Amino acid sequence: MEQRNSSTYRVLARKYRPDNFDSLIGQEALVQTLTNAIELNRLAHAFILTGVRGVGKTTTARILAKGLNCIGPDSTGKPNINPCNQCEQCKAIQMGNHIDVLEMDAASNTGVDDIREIIDSSVYRPVSARYKIYIIDEVHMLSKNAFNALLKTLEEPPDTVKFIFATTEIRRVPITILSRCQRFDLRRVPMDLLITHLSNIATAENIKTEPEAIRLIAYAAEGSVRDCLSLLDQASALGANQITSSVIENMLGHANSNALLDLLQNCLEGDIQIALSSLKKAIDNGAEPEQIISDLMDFTHQASLIASNSDLPDISDSARDKLSLLAKLGIPQLARCWQILLKGYQEIKFAPRPEASAEMLIIRLAHTSPMPTPSEILEKLPKASTKTVGEPDKNGGLLSSLKDDEKTVNQSNNSNASTQEEYNIKKIVSEQSLSGKTGAENDHFVKPLNKENTPPLGNLRDIAEYCEKKGALILAADIRNYVELVNFNNTSLEIQLEEGASEDLPGKIMQFLNANTDQNWQISISDKPASPTLQEEDKQVKKKQLYLASKHPVAQEVSKAFPGARVIDVVEPTQSESLSSSSSIETSSFIANLEQSGLQKPRNRQEEM
Ligand SMILES: [Zn+2]
Repeated sequence: MEQRNSSTYRVLARKYRPDNFDSLIGQEALVQTLTNAIELNRLAHAFILTGVRGVGKTTTARILAKGLNCIGPDSTGKPNINPCNQCEQCKAIQMGNHIDVLEMDAASNTGVDDIREIIDSSVYRPVSARYKIYIIDEVHMLSKNAFNALLKTLEEPPDTVKFIFATTEIRRVPITILSRCQRFDLRRVPMDLLITHLSNIATAENIKTEPEAIRLIAYAAEGSVRDCLSLLDQASALGANQITSSVIENMLGHANSNALLDLLQNCLEGDIQIALSSLKKAIDNGAEPEQIISDLMDFTHQASLIASNSDLPDISDSARDKLSLLAKLGIPQLARCWQILLKGYQEIKFAPRPEASAEMLIIRLAHTSPMPTPSEILEKLPKASTKTVGEPDKNGGLLSSLKDDEKTVNQSNNSNASTQEEYNIKKIVSEQSLSGKTGAENDHFVKPLNKENTPPLGNLRDIAEYCEKKGALILAADIRNYVELVNFNNTSLEIQLEEGASEDLPGKIMQFLNANTDQNWQISISDKPASPTLQEEDKQVKKKQLYLASKHPVAQEVSKAFPGARVIDVVEPTQSESLSSSSSIETSSFIANLEQSGLQKPRNRQEEM
């Protein structure tokens, strides 16, 4: 504390800049290679250090320069990996005033003349040191001519000259230069190391910190030690005696993470008003809309990791509880949430009013979340019309059965249809309008939708999805890819296996079903004609959709207006779009990405209003 108030206060990043390789954290591989090279006396004339900002490139360059020139406290030492930091050479390099060690920032000296100076002086022997060392930072910024000039020296360097280059963008360094350098990649410092490092420094500096605050700093620094320490510096100035997570959140423009987790939960549960007011509160408290969305993406990512039983980095217990709750939504919904957020995040950057854009994004997310996933809607198809069970009609079976569905649902929807069903209807209506035909006349009743725990398993798709729901993802994928249905009768299945299926797949399916339902299942292999696999079926459906979309009047108009444009994808309309007037259903149900640069998607305008 006294130190902070004294006039000689040095920022932490400088004060704790490592002066030897032992204190350089997270770069063991680099240190090992360098040690070997020095011990075996296999030192190149030029080194190139690459890595993201703040991982220690310049620091490494200086330690290396010291190691190369160190003569030890008794002035008899040889080049070594552990410079003594006591001899004249070490001290002068440390202070940055060694006459033979020159540092240059290529970002501000890009020209050939700047390099010429170096080249001209490199022919003279070092004044006092073993080697003349040129450290060139951000070397990728040099001009082409400068590189060419440098190349000549690199090809035939004087024995007493060493170059140490550092760059954040190795790909911009010409290969002719790279091939003459010994290359070292500095990796991002892992979170746990950063956290330990920060905690140690905080303790040494007598800065009181909450563990969560340290975690937030380390996370924000993205593997950069320098950024970490700068943030700690800044926070200790702001936070007076105690650095809490809220100090860091304020500083970084983050909203309170617990509040944001609640926001996401509300949003995905469809509580738009609550979600919007939390958003407003967060923005009012100073959080940046862009940062909020980025945080929501992080949470979605973390919840998905939990949902797939993967390891999660250090997070607080309260956050973990909330994330576990989110994880229960399942991977399909989280994945969709991620996509919507990702798209919104890109839009927000260019939005004239980021706040409004963030609000729109939350509304979109809340409206989309209760909608069934594509696999859920496809699940309904065979159920709608019994004739399709077991024998999908390749010529438009999808759309004709959808039509039947629509008719049925229209008859029952005003009474007690669940929200889930309502959304299905909207999707069906819009898909049907896509086909450009009117509803069919015959009646079929949709089976009631799934009860909470024991969904009726009426076809192969039901089974595959039930597997997914229960977390048996590999089994589900095997069913989709390898099983061809011959016959499905209550709890007995006749199937064929595609080539490549494992022999025990039928056994595994049976085991799964018997363990997860209260019925007794039988599965037999048959050689009778079978319907295609679910995967094959889905492909056909997509093909059909694309074909129909390309024939839609709007698509025709677009391709007239923009020659060369073609439909490459069909996207489900969101709920709000489906709710709007019938003419806009027509338009919004056709949402095609146009493969032509600079082309606005037709619905973007609509969305942003
Ligand atoms: Zn020394």
